[in-house]
Amino acid sequence: MSEQDYVDTIDNNDNNSNDNHNDDEYEKVCFVCHRPESVAGKMINLPNNMCVCNDCMQNSFDAMNNMNFGGAIDYSQLMNMPGVQFLNIDDMSQQIPKQQRVKKKKEGEKATPLVDIHNLPAPHKIKASLDEYVVGQEYAKKVMSVAVYNHYKRVATDSMDDIEIEKSNMLMIGPTGSGKTYLVKTLARILDVPLAITDATSLTEAGYIGDDIESVVEKAEQGIIFIDEIDKIAKKKNASQRDVSGESVQQGMLKLLEGSEVEVPVGANSKNAMVPLTTVNTKNILFICGGAFPDLDGIIKERLTKQSAIGFGADLKDKYDHDKKILEKVATEDLRNFGMIPEFLGRLPIVFTLQGLTEDMYVKILEEPKNAILKQYQKLLALDEVKLDFTEDALRAIAKKAMEKDTGARALRAIIEEFMLDIMYEIPKDDSIGQVTITQEYIENTGGPIITLRGQEVPRLESQA
Ligand code: ADP
Repeated sequence: MSEQDYVDTIDNNDNNSNDNHNDDEYEKVCFVCHRPESVAGKMINLPNNMCVCNDCMQNSFDAMNNMNFGGAIDYSQLMNMPGVQFLNIDDMSQQIPKQQRVKKKKEGEKATPLVDIHNLPAPHKIKASLDEYVVGQEYAKKVMSVAVYNHYKRVATDSMDDIEIEKSNMLMIGPTGSGKTYLVKTLARILDVPLAITDATSLTEAGYIGDDIESVVEKAEQGIIFIDEIDKIAKKKNASQRDVSGESVQQGMLKLLEGSEVEVPVGANSKNAMVPLTTVNTKNILFICGGAFPDLDGIIKERLTKQSAIGFGADLKDKYDHDKKILEKVATEDLRNFGMIPEFLGRLPIVFTLQGLTEDMYVKILEEPKNAILKQYQKLLALDEVKLDFTEDALRAIAKKAMEKDTGARALRAIIEEFMLDIMYEIPKDDSIGQVTITQEYIENTGGPIITLRGQEVPRLESQA
């Protein structure tokens, strides 16, 4: 039987295939490469509800033709076929899903925008909502509000066809714990769009690029994807051997960032041989990349010093050494020197920096945001009808301790939890306690909190009034 005959016979089976599922909703998936019929073209039906696409069928014929049937079979040839692994057929029967099919995407039907353009909050409103939760970082909040606003305008009008509004993907640079993740989380909550958070270090190298990212993409066709630790996929500098791993991950992300169809496994987060794939379009996904970019300040300093040294009125060499706002002066050139490739940076048109937190900001983070840590503890104790207060000095002491840890605002909770444990344990023992005031001495382990009995509570501490 010739190849063509074989294909024809199988094709004929197609007509009397014995599935009685509603074919309008499902489409077949190639057993070998996992592409759905809408992508790979008409499937060839095999027994047991399996199907294979034409390409894979052709590949297997080619492989067979190239084999030396007279002698030993060259399995290595088979191994070279994309997606083919050696399987034990007996195992397979237990693993094969009943139907090798995924839900069809309805054609011609436009996805309804998640965010309605008429109800889209204006940038100043988005920023005002961010202000309720995020302390400081004024510039970052402003840039993000505008970028997100424009992004959803672009999604709603679908103006990719005529005047193309460029995607507003962002690159966020800021020390750890300065609120990068928190900003994105808050933003997604305000807009009520799906958010997926992933980490650039989990993205794998060439050939397998995007396994992880593709699985998160699915959640967020019109949402936001935050990729943290993006600085970790920089090309390594000064390496004796050329380091290509970071570079190839960046290359692999280009299409994703600008908008393309990617295949994601359905209902599982690994590309397992048995998991069917579906296609997701990333064109309406807003990508926000974040990273601490350690030593970027050094690179910026070097450039600025070099520049000023060749101009008139050359500056002193250490002019920028104590410049706390040096990161704000970042230019694309610096990021390239850090190891990000130009094409990658080109797809993140909006670059902004977050400030390292100051002591004042720590104090504010403790008490001001809508869900501030202090408010949370006050609420907990209020349920026991106990008033919880902190003196201004106590707050400063906590802020100082947190700064020493150098892990950003994350440290605050750990510090507070440590000394609140005793309070939360002891207070409910004694019904007569009406108020607890945390003092600097208590934080610094040189004294205790001020305990006030019921009926004698101080209305409000002066320092906090
Ligand atoms: P990173 O910059 O490393 O992503 P995160 O966003 O995870 O840092 O910050 C850690 C925690 O610190 C957040 O969950 C949040 O509670 C708090 N935090 C950090 N920065 C701020 C800020 N500017 N305002 C309010 N809370 C903040």
